[in-house]
Amino acid sequence: LGCDMFDSASYILYAKDNRYMHSNGTARLEDLSYLPCQCPICTTYSIKELFYMDKDSRTLEIAKHNLYILKAEVDAVKQAIMDGRLWEYVMQKAHAHPKLMEAMELFKTFEYLEEGTPIFKEKAVFLYDPIDQYRPEVKRFRNIVSTYASLKNKERKLILYPDSDIHPFYSTGVFFQLIKKFPDAQICTYNPFFGIIPSEISDIFPAAHNLSCKKPTNHTHPKNYPSFIESLDRFIVNNNFEEIIIIADNFMRQVVDDNFYNNIPTIKKLNPKVYDYDYNIITEL
Ligand SMILES: [Zn+2]
Repeated sequence: LGCDMFDSASYILYAKDNRYMHSNGTARLEDLSYLPCQCPICTTYSIKELFYMDKDSRTLEIAKHNLYILKAEVDAVKQAIMDGRLWEYVMQKAHAHPKLMEAMELFKTFEYLEEGTPIFKEKAVFLYDPIDQYRPEVKRFRNIVSTYASLKNKERKLILYPDSDIHPFYSTGVFFQLIKKFPDAQICTYNPFFGIIPSEISDIFPAAHNLSCKKPTNHTHPKNYPSFIESLDRFIVNNNFEEIIIIADNFMRQVVDDNFYNNIPTIKKLNPKVYDYDYNIITEL
């Protein structure tokens, strides 16, 4: 429509109750030590001056401030959409309260989010937490891989190598080393968020257009990434691999750890050769 509309009586209802809106919620005026805002109201009055105003004037001034906050929020959302970073923005907001993060669980099954998500974005997607495995761009990529048929028919051999920040994988020195050593094998990288990334399509958005924290955290355990296990399992079944060589980073080491492994019979049955990731590992394969 070319216009922004929202329905809100909150700015005045909060103002009547001395509640001052800020970017992550509201606070009672009497609980504030500072006014964390640069709007005309907050740069004109101190908290004390607002507090000792007569009730009607104070309500009016807080209501004006609250409207400035709402306008800033609408602008921030619009800018996030323009930047292709609405998901990141919503997640930042959700981190303001544990109950909001709980609500984010619903996003896992909101299929319609994909309908409004562009196929390609100018900017890389940022991936932080397990919930990001469900963002529409990443789900879309996993769906592509779920029907991927390997062109390497001679050997039913799969090589799995950890994803890095250098993309696409087929342009890296590591890939050239691997393809020289295993010309008939299907070479893929893997990443907790994306699952399996066949080298032939490692340039598709956002497999080559993302940044994630590669340092393991408490959340970086395969049990928090069921979509990874599903992707790996399906890729092996679809392509009838008979042999797997895994260069395992910390994450993959936990996948192939006995306790976890037993839940993925497809992989266990093939008895993969697993090597711990090391810069020179390819020379030892
Ligand atoms: Zn203000």
